[in-house]
Amino acid sequence: MVEALGKKRISPIGVGTWKMGGKDGMDRTHDADDVKAIGYALDHGISVIDTAETYGNGHSEELVAKAIKGRDRESLYIITKVLPTHLGHDQLMKSAKHSLDRMGCGYIDLYLIHWTPPKLEMVKEGLQTMEELVKQGAVRSIGVSNFNVQETLFAMEATRSEKIVANQIEYSLLARDPESDVIPFCEKNGIVVISYTPLADGKVTTYGPARDIARSTGRTPVQVALNYLMRRSLPIPKASRIDHLKEILGSVGWTLEPEDVKRLQAG
Ligand code: NAP
Repeated sequence: MVEALGKKRISPIGVGTWKMGGKDGMDRTHDADDVKAIGYALDHGISVIDTAETYGNGHSEELVAKAIKGRDRESLYIITKVLPTHLGHDQLMKSAKHSLDRMGCGYIDLYLIHWTPPKLEMVKEGLQTMEELVKQGAVRSIGVSNFNVQETLFAMEATRSEKIVANQIEYSLLARDPESDVIPFCEKNGIVVISYTPLADGKVTTYGPARDIARSTGRTPVQVALNYLMRRSLPIPKASRIDHLKEILGSVGWTLEPEDVKRLQAG
């Protein structure tokens, strides 16, 4: 499933960084804990980090830089996103340069359009500029986020030399609509679905069906929820707490029984 993302080893889950470095503006108060959390995830087999130029007004990308310092760059898969207001050629070139400067990571593994611009036509200029960045070696793969089926199709048709390799969308046990349209479409077209807010911002811990299955399997609701999503996507949960990350890591290396999957699908 994740082969479309490139030749690197991709862990079955990644780490999200939204709210690390600030929610709307920049906030440095939790930097040490956030850098430690990302580092902990990388030390324990996670290779994928998701960030965006807008998170913490760029500070989230600076925290990624701190967490990856001294690590083997080729073992990491770094995703960042450009704002839909920055899709014009020169603006996008500038955005990419700023992201790279903040992260100090040499190149971006996967560069996404964060969400659709009011004028969908701008997607074309944005993606074709990203293709230039691929030719220059600044970006390895390109994709979209929050695109519905029609918008994804538009994006696929807008590229010339690269393929859309991923669509990052909200997908969790509490947000399963993509199962009826975006996910089957992406699967059919070899596009990897990356699930954001996979823990429904922590609400899966109280979600009845996940709790029931957790009880009968000796797992936790968070582990059940992520394992469910991994069947058809790459979830990128965010956790600043190490105990949360430990629990998240326990979602890997086993598979839900088919009857448990059916119970979760029934809701
Ligand atoms: P999420 O991963 O569903 O939930 C994060 C929340 O869950 C945090 O408050 C975290 O607490 C808590 N949590 C983590 N592990 C837990 C555990 N084991 N038990 C209980 N609570 C736990 O939500 P998200 O941050 O919105 O989504 C994840 C990532 O997706 C983001 O960080 C971002 O990278 C990406 N994203 C992308 C978009 C987009 O438009 N493309 C939109 C939203 C998010 P602590 O932090 O205190 O540990």
